[in-house]
Amino acid sequence: MNLTGKSELIQLLDRHGFSFSKSLGQNFLIDKNILDKIINASDIDKNKNVLEIGPGAGTLTCELCKIAKKVVSVEIDSKLEPILNEVMADYDNFKLIMQDAMEVDMKKLVHEEFSDEPFVISANLPYYITTPLVMKFFEEDLPVESMTLMIQKEVAGRMTANAGNKEYGALSVAVRFYSEPKIVCTAPPNCFVPQPKVTSTVINLKVYEEPPYIPDNKEFFFKVVKSLFSQRRKTLVNSLSKSPYMNIDKNIIIQTLNEMNIDINIRGEKLEIEKLVEFSNILLNKIV
Ligand code: SAM
Repeated sequence: MNLTGKSELIQLLDRHGFSFSKSLGQNFLIDKNILDKIINASDIDKNKNVLEIGPGAGTLTCELCKIAKKVVSVEIDSKLEPILNEVMADYDNFKLIMQDAMEVDMKKLVHEEFSDEPFVISANLPYYITTPLVMKFFEEDLPVESMTLMIQKEVAGRMTANAGNKEYGALSVAVRFYSEPKIVCTAPPNCFVPQPKVTSTVINLKVYEEPPYIPDNKEFFFKVVKSLFSQRRKTLVNSLSKSPYMNIDKNIIIQTLNEMNIDINIRGEKLEIEKLVEFSNILLNKIV
């Protein structure tokens, strides 16, 4: 079955009485060139386990199964189950889990399906849960080697933004903290059916085995980051001293900046992750 052929895909979906759900972010990929790029960037071979979120009608899933050791796909929409059962019938290295990906106990899944072995994530994501899902994979301390994801172009811009750029924010810092991001390609709306309103981007996040940035206290570091970027028009001193997430004396913040030879009128968005880690370590030292 050629699922990147629009008419063949529509015929299959019609035969099952399927109709697209906008609220589940259902825009199915119909561009073979983009599909190949996702597969290449995912860097999969016969020894790799793959986790896919949102298989849809199985377009990416089939290609993953052809080259991977095992593919586990998590799909929320029960209307897609019979379609996937038909499309994936010939693949014995495929497992479908019908559940909301945000609700899945990922540690249990990785233990039961991959015997705790490393795995990669490859997915054309439902855009409404991109950020919480990516954060879930980063924060749950799973053996994820990389994530190759189709996401909204604007979100990819935020994930890869550098300090000083207007798109630089808490998401940029979190992504850089855990991984090395690389843009693979962009996909205009006509690569999908139905066409989304936005342009999409395939991004590859190579997850660090050994994180290069080691704050003394990760929770404290991320609270500082959240404080700085939730009020980004304010100076670092003002946003942090008035943070709803932590209670830090203004003078201690100024002392910390002075010690680092940083202008006390700087905005948090001007600091690269290395400086943010250094800043949070010195600050923490002063308040404990
Ligand atoms: N992979 C298919 C493709 O490339 O054509 C479909 C991608 S479509 C953008 C997103 C898919 O994610 C849909 O199949 C949708 O039903 C599914 N989905 C949406 N929310 C989900 C959730 N919370 N958990 C798991 N799957 C979800």
